[in-house]
Order: sequence, then C-alpha cells, then structure tokens
Amino acid sequence: MKYEYDIAVIGAGPSGIMAAIRASELGRKVVIIEKNDNIGKKLSITGKGRCNITNACDPEGFVKKFGPCGQFLRNAFYAFSSEDLVDFFGKAGVEMKTERQGRIFPVTDKSSSVVEALKMSLAANGAEQIYDSSVSVIKKEAGGFVISITDKKDIRVKKVNIKPLRAELVPLVTEEGWVKDLQGLGLENIKITFFSGKKKIESPIGELMFTHFGVSGPLVLDLSGEVTALLEEDKEVALQIDLKPGLREEQLESKLIHKFTSKGHSMMKNIMKDVLPNRLIPVFLKIAGISEGRMSNQVTKDERKGIKR
Ligand SMILES: Cc1cc2nc3c(=O)[nH]c(=O)nc-3n(C[C@H](O)[C@H](O)[C@H](O)COP(=O)(O)OP(=O)(O)OC[C@H]3O[C@@H](n4cnc5c(N)ncnc54)[C@H](O)[C@@H]3O)c2cc1C
Repeated sequence: MKYEYDIAVIGAGPSGIMAAIRASELGRKVVIIEKNDNIGKKLSITGKGRCNITNACDPEGFVKKFGPCGQFLRNAFYAFSSEDLVDFFGKAGVEMKTERQGRIFPVTDKSSSVVEALKMSLAANGAEQIYDSSVSVIKKEAGGFVISITDKKDIRVKKVNIKPLRAELVPLVTEEGWVKDLQGLGLENIKITFFSGKKKIESPIGELMFTHFGVSGPLVLDLSGEVTALLEEDKEVALQIDLKPGLREEQLESKLIHKFTSKGHSMMKNIMKDVLPNRLIPVFLKIAGISEGRMSNQVTKDERKGIKR
C-alpha cells in the first residue's frame, strides 16, 4: 500500500501545530487536519486576544508549576525551553516582550501574529494543511491507518499517535448550590487549597470567580488539571478559600475581636462590610450559622471561630 503521508496530526491547536512543524523539520511527510476553517482558533482568543505565549521562568520553574505532571515533562522543558520558544518566534518574525510575573506576549499584543507565524512555519517546512475537515473515524490496516474525514475522501498515513484526553484549564463544578447566589463575584488577593484524602493542592495568591455552577478564574483554571485527575479516580475533592491569606490565624482573631467589641451594637451584616465584599456577607454568615441581624457583641467565641473556618 502506498501511503500519502508518514504522519497525520489531527487538530491544528498549538500542540498539533508544533508537532507537525517538528516532524516536517525532521524530514517526515506530514499532514495536519483541522475541523475549523483555520489553524489555532482557540489560540487566537488566548490571553484576552494577546496570547500569553510562555513565561520567563527556567525549566525547573515549569516542572514545579506542572505539579504531578512536572516530572514527566522535565525532559521536554529542557529540550525546548521558553527561551527556545521565544527564539523560534523571533526567527519567524514575531518579537516577544516580558510583562509582570514573567508573562511573555508578542510585542504586537495580537495573538493573530502568533497564529500567522505558525501557519507560515508549517508551510515553510512543507507540512500540508487541510481545513474544514472533521476526522470521524480512524481505522488500522496492515502497515498504516485510514483516516475518514466527514464529506471528504479518506487519507492514508503510516502513523497516528492517539492520546487519551483529560480536561485541563477548566472551571470547576461545586456541589454547593449557594455559589449561584454569588455568580459573577470575583475575589482578589485570596488563596485556594484543594484537599483530597491526604493530598493537598495549594495555589499562590490570586483571583477566583464564582459562576452559576461553581468556581472559575485564574487560580482555579491553573489547578484544574490536578483536580480533574483526582476526580477521574472518583476521589472527593474539597475546596478551601482563604479570604485573608496575608493574616495569620491569631491576627485575624484579634482583628475580629476588636471589630466586634468596638462596634458592639452593630448588626453582623453591617460589621462584616469592613471584612468581606458585600455580596459574600449573607452567604458567609449563613454558612457560619449567624443571623445577619445578630448584634456583634452577642457573637459567641465558638461562632467567631466558625467565621474563621
Ligand atoms: C479563554 C482562554 C484563554 C487562554 N489563554 C491562554 C494563554 O494566554 N496562554 C496559554 O498558554 N494558554 C492559554 N489558554 C490555554 C490554551 O488555549 C490551551 O492550552 C491550548 O489551546 C491547548 O492546545 P491544544 O493544541 O492541546 O488544543 P486546542 O487548542 O484545543 O486544539 C485542538 C484542535 O483540534 C481540533 N479538532 C478537535 N477534534 C477534531 C477532529 N475530530 N477533526 C479535526 N480537528 C479536530 C480543534 O478544532 C482544535 O483546533 C487559554 C484557554 C482559554 C479557553
């Protein structure tokens, strides 16, 4: 059987594109098949349309950030570092700039420059690009594979590498219904920790957003890959939100005592305005088991401890 291509890459997102470029650079005859009408559709909306392409940290920094997958990825981070990526785009005519927290963006502030550079690089290396083509079936035959594309003729290739999929960089659904009342509320300068059995996944300080089904925002998206891995194993995962990560427990305790005694005749729903965003107060007090109209000087020690939890 004569095969048209050595390798077929299905899906022209950043990973498929880079794999196709590298395989063509190494002399393979490659086809990249994309169901959308262009490559990198998702890539073009990343970083709010500016594409935060990488980070200026060293390979060990990436290993750390990737949690349990970091070890597996170590070789890859050393073989092709963020400096290599910046260099790759520099050669393709897209200069990069580094912003706060080491985040790297194209100087054009447009993800379209990145997409165009990748498209040109695919063409320059001789990788064939097929768009508007959704792969529906892959069949193994002696010596290779037949790839069926909806409404188009089959493609025959020697190699297809199939990887199981897992959700990464996704918002998370919570069991608690009260999140719905907080939909759209963003919390800044907070810290989150996921717990599952003895496992603990901690975030740095950052932002979280409540949605109608659960939680989202940068901190959640960053850790979601580790959480979905636990959920796939049917493990229960609990989320703790530290609203005051800058305060030690005893500092928070004395701050609350001071507030409750200095404004002893204020209702809890009012006194908490100094501590929490307005929309969070009713939900927060309900969980702590304290009525909104309760006078702050009537709050017991146990109830105050409930607030801290
Ligand atoms: C809003 C948002 C902002 C983001 N911002 C950033 C950022 O600033 N920096 C960053 O590093 N990451 C960011 N990300 C994450 C980044 O977009 C992903 O990590 C990245 O796109 C994953 O690349 P991929 O190639 O694995 O998958 P994808 O980009 O999802 O590409 C997969 C491709 O396969 C195609 N496909 C699927 N099935 C078929 C089929 N049967 N036949 C043919 N084609 C098929 C799809 O159409 C798609 O084009 C962001 C994500 C989102 C949603």
